[in-house]
Amino acid sequence: MKTVELMALPYAPDALEPVISGATLGFHHGKHLRAYVDNLNKLLEGGPLEGLPLERIVCAAPAGPLFNNAGQVLNHNLYFGQFCTGGSPLAEGALKRRIEAQWGSLDAFKEAFEAAGAGLFGSGWVWLQADAAGELSIAQYAGADNPVAHGFTPVLTFDVWEHAYYLDFQNRRAAYLKALWDIVDWSVVEGRL
Ligand code: MN
Repeated sequence: MKTVELMALPYAPDALEPVISGATLGFHHGKHLRAYVDNLNKLLEGGPLEGLPLERIVCAAPAGPLFNNAGQVLNHNLYFGQFCTGGSPLAEGALKRRIEAQWGSLDAFKEAFEAAGAGLFGSGWVWLQADAAGELSIAQYAGADNPVAHGFTPVLTFDVWEHAYYLDFQNRRAAYLKALWDIVDWSVVEGRL
């Protein structure tokens, strides 16, 4: 039966330095994400959700270990998949227009997004999400929860679990969030709309 695979990083382990060090990436992708993938495959084995696409597993999984591991795999795939060396600019287009319509400017959006990430209590994820009509919003989800489980399209996400930033930024979550903009590949983010 088809199992969920550990995503291959679309860049070298040190490609995101100095924002995300090779050491952080090694632990975060090679240990944390790998553990979620392995746990998920064990939990799926022989069950009714085995072999389904990851998004469908997330939507169908009951609260508990299956949802938590499936959610964490999906969230990390989106997180690691949206970065590149030096970042890429947000081009003129639908996403830029909608961000400016909603928040006034890209800088104002970034400020609101950072504040939502810094203000999330404990472990979780801050998201830019879109509803079925394309309306954008910033959302905080705790633990492994995510927009997909609530019927939204995930557009951009920053991981605020401590394992994402503690080696490089220690307790300075706000500094980590601000630094991440330097490596966001906006062409990938826009493609999710
Ligand atoms: Mn993480």
